[in-house]
Amino acid sequence: MRIFDTHCHLGLLYEDPVAQVKAIDEAKRGLAVDKEKTKQANVIALANISTNLYDFESCYKNTKNIPNVFHTIGLSPSEVINPGKDWEEKLDEWLDYENVIGVGEIGLDYHHKYGNKNDQIEFFLKQLDMAEKHELPVVLHNREAGSDMLDILKSKTPSKGGILHCFSEDSDYAYKMIDLGIYISFAGNLTFHNATNLHTVAKNIPLENILIETDSPFLTPNAYRGKRNRPVFIVETLKFLAKLRNMSIDKLADILFTNSLKAYHLRLSDLVYYDTTENDEE
Ligand SMILES: [Zn+2]
Repeated sequence: MRIFDTHCHLGLLYEDPVAQVKAIDEAKRGLAVDKEKTKQANVIALANISTNLYDFESCYKNTKNIPNVFHTIGLSPSEVINPGKDWEEKLDEWLDYENVIGVGEIGLDYHHKYGNKNDQIEFFLKQLDMAEKHELPVVLHNREAGSDMLDILKSKTPSKGGILHCFSEDSDYAYKMIDLGIYISFAGNLTFHNATNLHTVAKNIPLENILIETDSPFLTPNAYRGKRNRPVFIVETLKFLAKLRNMSIDKLADILFTNSLKAYHLRLSDLVYYDTTENDEE
């Protein structure tokens, strides 16, 4: 089984990001001794999402040589007031780095009222332009700003597509995003019992437009509630979705893995191959 965690924040795990990823890497090579680590072997690739300049500078440097760890960089709405010195020049340079596969997460967050709406929109538009310039897909953050986000994407549709991370809207909204070439990504909150609206969406929209992610260290799946989320816990979201869709975990994992590569414009040959069959027998 192969799983791609399409959205995690290694820099925010409060554990050494290098140790995190090395543990996964060791497991993949069959070097891990304990079972918990071996289970991580199925998470063979991940996208580390940087939302500010500092995260990228620290995390990219430390993890860039580890196979199958990819990166995105984009300034989230939380940065709108203080994006950091020369942020546009920096992003412009970093987006050409090896293994940088997307612009994000970027978007709109009206829940936290970072700056005012116009500041956020202008900040978002600038970074949509950067995605065009660098021919990269976008990783989108939407919190209580669904209608503005849709309007903006309709008028400025990302030509390399994108991912709406931690989906929180209804089916109708999902279809509108899919029409714009945007993948719908479900995080650990899909496994919450009371997330019935999300269950309906995840059950009904086409499988080929779905991704899963951890958004770790946030949104820990139900089974591990109380713990800090980490990429390995994505298995719970996979299992839950398989149940919702009434299909086997293996088959679903295959489809989602293919979707993840497509969403980030990666080819299988961009990944280091690991034979995980042994781990499947666990
Ligand atoms: Zn995130």
